[in-house]
Amino acid sequence: YDESMLHENAYTETRQMTEAFNKMLGRLRVLDDSRTEFVSNVSHELKTPLTSMKVLSDSLLTQEDVPVELYKEFMGDLSEEIERENKIINDLLSLVKMDKTADTMNISSVNINTLVERILKQLRPIAAKNNIEVVFESFRPVTAEVDEVKLSLAITNLVENAIKYNQENGWVHVALNADHKLFYIEVADSGIGIAPEETDHIFERFYRVDKSHSREIGGTGLGLAIARSAIVMHRGAIKVYSQPGKGTTFTVKIPLTYVS
Ligand code: ADP
Repeated sequence: YDESMLHENAYTETRQMTEAFNKMLGRLRVLDDSRTEFVSNVSHELKTPLTSMKVLSDSLLTQEDVPVELYKEFMGDLSEEIERENKIINDLLSLVKMDKTADTMNISSVNINTLVERILKQLRPIAAKNNIEVVFESFRPVTAEVDEVKLSLAITNLVENAIKYNQENGWVHVALNADHKLFYIEVADSGIGIAPEETDHIFERFYRVDKSHSREIGGTGLGLAIARSAIVMHRGAIKVYSQPGKGTTFTVKIPLTYVS
């Protein structure tokens, strides 16, 4: 036999293995980095309302004879911060649940028209407070194999955003359609819109376009991450089109039959 050939082969094999190993290591590092980043983001987000609560309660505690008015104002602020903390925790729980149940989809045949109607019925009172009209247009009756809870969460988050980031007297338009393979849900709004350079990031966990404005509006930055997670678990896709100052449209497409 040819010994040099054997060496050559062994060398190539070792090099290939080293390459594969390095590649895997790289992937693991990326995973680990994003986990570390997530934990650090979570801690930060949970701490922000806590810091405000601490400042508010301390300043009440250290003041003598606090006027009732001031006391009430501080208590109102405290209550708001608690509400915010609660929202973040609830969203986080949804997200974690989504990760955990990635391979336990609870699939059944669901009437999507009814599902959308039910969500809109729940959200219309919130929209009405800001004079926002919510319209549903169904191009055909759609029944699909989906995880009802997860899909509801995704659509609810999209419509909630369409209401939250809208303008006074605006509108939200939800459309449902299907072909022989997929069904399509479109959530369009007449709202503030999203700048082109931001649209790539809005699905990231905790990402908010305008931190202070979003804070005023009361977001956690998790809604779209949850929505995308739920849609991807259905082997679907979500896209966004937006014009700043004019409005935003989210389009969702999901297979009619579930492929595990
Ligand atoms: P949040 O809890 O802040 O609403 P999301 O993950 O749901 O978090 O959305 C991320 C960010 O994307 C929001 O903070 C907002 O800046 C932007 N955004 C989402 N939906 C819309 C929309 N319909 N119109 C304008 N901006 C939006």
